[in-house]
Amino acid sequence: MRAVRPIIVAGNWKMNSTPADAGTLAAAIAAATAETAVRRIICPPYVALQAVGAALVGTGVEVGSQNVHAESAGAYTGEISAAMLSGLVTWCIVGHSERRRDQGETDALVGRKLVRCREHDLRPILCVGETLTEREAGRAETVVRSQLDGALAILDAVRRETSAGWLVVAYEPVWAIGTGRTASGADAATMAGVIREALERNGLGTAAEAVPILYGGSVTSATIGEFLAEPSLDGALVGGASLRADEMAGIVARAALTARARAAAEAGP
Ligand code: PEP
Repeated sequence: MRAVRPIIVAGNWKMNSTPADAGTLAAAIAAATAETAVRRIICPPYVALQAVGAALVGTGVEVGSQNVHAESAGAYTGEISAAMLSGLVTWCIVGHSERRRDQGETDALVGRKLVRCREHDLRPILCVGETLTEREAGRAETVVRSQLDGALAILDAVRRETSAGWLVVAYEPVWAIGTGRTASGADAATMAGVIREALERNGLGTAAEAVPILYGGSVTSATIGEFLAEPSLDGALVGGASLRADEMAGIVARAALTARARAAAEAGP
């Protein structure tokens, strides 16, 4: 029987919350989303990782970081390495468009971050997506392909071939992040096809089918259904709405319906 891909809802808190209030918010989200069919992940700021981790013990909600440095250690003032994160998180967002935009992160740098994650058993949520200008120029698919080609080229052949079961990709059109606009479910599904084709071509082969692909960009409890209705999409990376326990409750509840329906369809009559 073919493995059913997990349904994942990951919250990216960005530069919000403090160590003093993050644990309370994380606990509220965990209580509002208690649901074993969905993998739930919270990615708070670095300084709140410990508080959030403590608040989530025993809840089944996993913790992720929003970034990691591309080097293992050294003279990189203010940076955080994969070794430092190991033990605090199991997941790591890599290549978020806000970092590509504000910190000038290139695909090659993003690829080196993937290597660091692999060395320390952190599961990356690799973000890709086009800007509005690129979409309007008809270049959305080319851009996403080249982001994946550029990042995955940094991993050696063995790591690429064995990255199903480790890698998660988030398709996040830049124009949809924090804007209240979303892609259509159909456009996001087309991009999931582009992403799996690129993964397949970059050494994953047929195992690309097993890689979960999330949609990200202004997802709320009202819009998540359109994306989960697409069989090629496996959940969401949620920004703004992930700061609200009631919104996360709605998103995870809808995701659980999809998880159960897909598991039932796979099991057969
Ligand atoms: C994000 O930060 O990855 C994101 C998708 O943000 P928002 O949901 O706020 O658009």
